[in-house]
Amino acid sequence: MKNLLEVKNLKKIYHDKNGEIIAIDNISFEVKDGEFIAIVGPSGCGKSTILSILSNLEEKSDGEIIFGKDEVKIGYMLQNDALFDHRTILKNTLIGLEINKDLNEEKKQRVINLLNTYGLGEFINKYPKNLSGGMRQRCALIRTLAIEPDILLLDEPFSALDYQTRLAVSDDVYKIIKKEKKTAIIVTHDLEEAISIADKVIVLSNRPSTIKNIYEINLPNKSVPTKNRKLKEFSDYYNMIWKDLDVHV
Ligand code: ADP
Ligand code: MG
Repeated sequence: MKNLLEVKNLKKIYHDKNGEIIAIDNISFEVKDGEFIAIVGPSGCGKSTILSILSNLEEKSDGEIIFGKDEVKIGYMLQNDALFDHRTILKNTLIGLEINKDLNEEKKQRVINLLNTYGLGEFINKYPKNLSGGMRQRCALIRTLAIEPDILLLDEPFSALDYQTRLAVSDDVYKIIKKEKKTAIIVTHDLEEAISIADKVIVLSNRPSTIKNIYEINLPNKSVPTKNRKLKEFSDYYNMIWKDLDVHV
């Protein structure tokens, strides 16, 4: 597998009225085509900053971002599903194409097919208020997939959901991403979520955040991540990575 993305010595300094905040420093990692990467670390350590830089919403202060091919399209799915209440489900999922002035009949049909495939077909002309929390996340994911991104960035996509829903939705979202053969980077502070879902877990330290360790995860249930949570290997990974996280209670 070839690298779709290479991040080298990435650094971000924010400036505010109190001076400089070094959010991240010397962050380097590689992402292969089709890989599912999780970034974990304590709250405020700079996880969202990494995604914002990758998606060009923030400028880096230093380092390099190298894409494995020209014109890599990035899809960014935020924590809050940010669906527009006054737009139908279809119109919500088409918004990225609309903004990019890239909406045509063929692309619209492709999005309708995604909605049908992933259980939202009968809601196409309904509104976000008609959807459950899990369905809203699925809708937000389809909206992100609509622009046909090469890499999906997911920033704590399940954190607004209650625990049971979160498990179901993370399996759901995982299946869709795999089925659509996407490369994904998920940011989460939920270590169990990271281990169950990812091929590789990147552990960040407290701020100024550097990489503490990168773990390759080899668990058998590649199609249903939550099944992995019951395995002994799962707790082994958990205990190992937990020690790396600087959690002060
Ligand atoms: P995480 O997503 O891991 O919780 P963030 O990337 O959001 O962390 O933030 C990392 C650090 O950078 C935090 O201390 C935060 O307060 C600071 N920070 C984030 N965005 C800005 C900004 N626009 N201006 C100043 N400081 C910021
Ligand atoms: Mg964040």
